[in-house]
Amino acid sequence: MDRPALVRRLKERGAELGLGAVGIAPIAPSDHETFLKDWLARGHAGSMDWMARTFQDRVDPNRRFAWARSAVVSATSYLPYRGERAAQPGLVAHIARYAVGRDYHDVLLGRLGALARFIEEEAPGTRTRVYVDTGPVLERELAARAGVGWFGKNTNLIGARGNSWTLLGQILTSLELPPDAPVTDRCGTCTACIDACPTGAIPAPYVLDSTRCISYLTIELKDAIPRDKREGVGDWVFGCDVCQEVCPWNRREEPTGDSAFQAGSHLQESDLPALVRLDETAFRARYAGTALLRPRRRGLVRNALVAAANSRNDEAIEEAIPRLSDPEPIVRGAAAWALGTAGGGRIRRALEGARATETDAATRLEIDLALEDRGGTVRV
Ligand code: SF4
Ligand code: SF4
Repeated sequence: MDRPALVRRLKERGAELGLGAVGIAPIAPSDHETFLKDWLARGHAGSMDWMARTFQDRVDPNRRFAWARSAVVSATSYLPYRGERAAQPGLVAHIARYAVGRDYHDVLLGRLGALARFIEEEAPGTRTRVYVDTGPVLERELAARAGVGWFGKNTNLIGARGNSWTLLGQILTSLELPPDAPVTDRCGTCTACIDACPTGAIPAPYVLDSTRCISYLTIELKDAIPRDKREGVGDWVFGCDVCQEVCPWNRREEPTGDSAFQAGSHLQESDLPALVRLDETAFRARYAGTALLRPRRRGLVRNALVAAANSRNDEAIEEAIPRLSDPEPIVRGAAAWALGTAGGGRIRRALEGARATETDAATRLEIDLALEDRGGTVRV
C-alpha cells in the first residue's frame, strides 16, 4: 500500500476505533521553544516541574525518539451532555466534563494501541510509541500541525470544524507519512474565554498561568490551595470548563454518543457532603477507572471542602468537623478554612479542640487563621 493510501486507511481505521479526527504531523523541532522557555521562567507551570525537566525533549522530539518521523494525532470528541450540571445526576459539585465518564487515558490508550498495531501490520518493521497526555511531547502543537484543530486563545485545541470538547492522543512512528495541512486560527477578535475565566488564569491570549487555573489548583497541585485562590475556585471539585463553555465555537456542538464518556454511576454519590466524608476505601471503590483518582483522596476532599465553603453548603460544612482529625494535614487545613467561613460556638469549640492537638505547623496556622477570621452567620 502506498503512503497516501495508508494514511487514508489509517484515518478510516481511527474513526472505526472511536478516535474521531486523525491527522498526520511531521516530527520536527517546536516553533514555540522561546515561548515555552519564557512561560516556564515566569513560573506559569507552578509545581509541574516535570515540564522543565523534559523541556529539551519536548521542543525537539528527535532527541528522545531519534527514530520518529511522523506523529499520528487523534482528537476525540467527549462532550457528554449539553448545558450545565443537570446531567451530572445527584452531583452538587462541579466536575469537568471530560472526567464524568471512564478515565480517558485508559480509553484512548486502548484505541490508539489498536491503531498502532494496524500501522505495524500494514508496514512491518515500523516502530510506534503511543501517548495520551503523559508523554514528553507538545501534544497541542503536534495536533495543530496535524490539522486536527487550532490552538485557541484559551490554550485549548479547537477542532478543525469547531469544538474544543476533544481529547488528544498521539502515535509517534518511524514511518514517513504525508502530513496534513494546519488549520488557520479562527479566534479572531473574540476574547470570551479571557473575560469569563473566574481566576484570571489567561493573562494574555494563548497564555495560561497554570498557578491560577482551577484545573491546576484542583488536580495537579498536591499542596494546600493558596488562601488567596480558594474563593476563585468556586464549586469546582475537579477541573473547570468555563473557558470552553463560553467559546462560541462550542455552541453548536452535539453531545457524543460514545459510551466511554457518558456520566458514570460514581457521580450519583458525589455530592459535596459525600465528598467531604470520603474515606480511602470508598474513594478507591467509587472512583476506580475514572480520572478522579488523579488528585488522590486528599486532593479531592480538599477541593470538596473549599467548594463547600464557597457554595455555603451547610451540610458539607458540618461534615468538615470530623475532617479536623483526618490523617492528611492538607485535608485538616482545608477543613479548618471551610469551618472558618461559617459561624457558631460548636465550630469554634471544634477548631479550638483541634488546635490543642494539631502537630502539623501549616495546619495549626490554618486553624489559627480560621479562629481569627471566622465570621458569617451561625449555622452549625
Ligand atoms: Fe480559567 Fe477555568 Fe479555563 Fe482554567 S479552565 S483558564 S480557570 S476558565
Ligand atoms: Fe478563541 Fe473566543 Fe474560543 Fe477563546 S472563546 S478560544 S478567543 S473563539
